[in-house]
Amino acid sequence: MAAKPAILAVDDDVPVLRAVERDLRARYADEYRIVGAASGADALEAVRELTRRGDPVALFVVDQRMPVMTGIELLREALPLQPDAKRVLLTAYADTDVAIRAINEIRLDQYLLKPWDPPDERLYPVIDDLLADWVAAFRPPFEGLRLVAGRWTPRGHAIRDFLTRNQVPYTWLDPADDDGRRLVESLEGDADPAAPVVLLPDGQVLRDPPNRELADAVGLSTHAALPFYDLVIVGAGPAGLAAAVYGASEGLKTLLIEREAPGGQAGTTSRIENYLGFPSGLSGADLARRAHAQARRLGAEMLSSREAAGIRHADPYRTLLLDDGTELSCQAVVVATGVSYRRLEIPGAEALAGAGVYYGAATTEALLYRDTDVAVIGSGNSAGQAAVHLARYATRVHMVARGDDLSASMSAYLIDQLAALPNVEIHTGTMARALHGDEHLERATFAAPDGGEITLPVEAVFIFVGQQPRTAWLDGVVARDRLGFVLAGPDLGRGHGWSLDREPYLLESSLPGVFVAGDVRHRSNKRIASAVGDGAMAVQLVHRYLADLR
Ligand SMILES: Cc1cc2nc3c(=O)[nH]c(=O)nc-3n(C[C@H](O)[C@H](O)[C@H](O)COP(=O)(O)OP(=O)(O)OC[C@H]3O[C@@H](n4cnc5c(N)ncnc54)[C@H](O)[C@@H]3O)c2cc1C
Repeated sequence: MAAKPAILAVDDDVPVLRAVERDLRARYADEYRIVGAASGADALEAVRELTRRGDPVALFVVDQRMPVMTGIELLREALPLQPDAKRVLLTAYADTDVAIRAINEIRLDQYLLKPWDPPDERLYPVIDDLLADWVAAFRPPFEGLRLVAGRWTPRGHAIRDFLTRNQVPYTWLDPADDDGRRLVESLEGDADPAAPVVLLPDGQVLRDPPNRELADAVGLSTHAALPFYDLVIVGAGPAGLAAAVYGASEGLKTLLIEREAPGGQAGTTSRIENYLGFPSGLSGADLARRAHAQARRLGAEMLSSREAAGIRHADPYRTLLLDDGTELSCQAVVVATGVSYRRLEIPGAEALAGAGVYYGAATTEALLYRDTDVAVIGSGNSAGQAAVHLARYATRVHMVARGDDLSASMSAYLIDQLAALPNVEIHTGTMARALHGDEHLERATFAAPDGGEITLPVEAVFIFVGQQPRTAWLDGVVARDRLGFVLAGPDLGRGHGWSLDREPYLLESSLPGVFVAGDVRHRSNKRIASAVGDGAMAVQLVHRYLADLR
């Protein structure tokens, strides 16, 4: 529930302070929290705390004559943090001139001569009016998580991406803007002002938290509940989520481990047009959210921000090793770790990653690039979808492809959509050469088809130049092809240390009981439906494997 807006009463004369608090409480306590402070320093601390929590101050009622800090001095310091609060000064007759000057200086709303008895006549009418004005202009603050991070900080981008993809609602504030600056000023300590800060609704402040700390803080589960599972699935993309739905619904104690966010690559897609059963398409975030909820409802457990780092086996059990040293025992494993974006290896790409240079991330960042020029590098469907999505916000989207003909790598429906968008410009036969900018991307240079060079003044490039499996953690555990994709079933051929009399099952790796599903599988069809099919099938094969053990 939202905290009530505060009325802050400040007076160093404690009996007077108690009297103000009593009178304010008598009339306003139902709708406002009355906070008292006996000095300017205490009052500033209270204002900082309220600002940190995102709680508004509706009204200051401040004594002018305080020894260390006068009322006007206090308001001068407190108002930048709560600029919309109404301001009332309590004065003695002798301070009337000071109060009148303050009307201009700090936009004082009213001054009240002490004593204010009877309050019905001399206090409440004034305060009623001010509060009515304040309420009329008040926009309730966002009650959830707030992230304060510079627009161009790579870590700020990473946190935004993490929160968006894990479906955690948040407000992002830039410390360069008024609201963000105010929030930063309300924080104590002299930590690096450039580091992102996460403020949780309960008042906790996390400075540049690693994803795992953030996951813990927002209630994503990062610790396994059981010591032993029937099935552990690594990777919560479409393949892993499908395996979790079928595994859990068919009675297997199922644990799903995900290092970033549910949905995998599919979760980063702005629009999926070719997934069966959704004739008008759906967004990747929607698919991820639905599948995740379905897996959870059917009883699958999910560990977030955890990365599988190895598998050990002591037959018939398999032990999954996580990156923090945790060991999880199980009967069977499904590896569904998909593929990750290949990095662009040109000058500037590494230095500006997260500061205008993004891999995927078109859905997370698109809004930030409203009314700017951006580029998409790549020629596959993922690049095409990103360009279509970005074109809704950006002034101009340059679609840069190395090949001469998009139809070699992109579906016809996407080529048609791109052609119909007046703000998309397609550059074929063009190769990225360098990315430039100091704090963030300012322009990109490309080798043009005629041998010359073109420079585009773009504020962001979104890179989709192919993907690779990240399976080094399976080195020496299961057989892989030379690119790192995991071999399974008939693709294993002879050898590879297969130890059983029977042939490996269709999706079984060279280590019995460890199955592979989705994009990470050698020669898999890189499509959502195929990954989902693999995930479902892998669970059937797990059942067969478990039956063999009995
Ligand atoms: C931008 C984009 C648009 C696309 N559009 C379409 C489309 O319209 N239609 C279509 O059919 N296909 C589309 N695809 C392809 C489709 O998304 C993939 O084929 C599909 O997501 C593969 O699913 P997966 O589960 O095998 O792997 P992924 O989706 O890659 O998921 C793998 C998951 O495993 C996690 N992981 C990896 N390693 C570890 C580890 N060691 N420990 C823990 N977790 C780990 C990753 O974080 C990831 O979440 C698109 C892909 C992209 C990038």
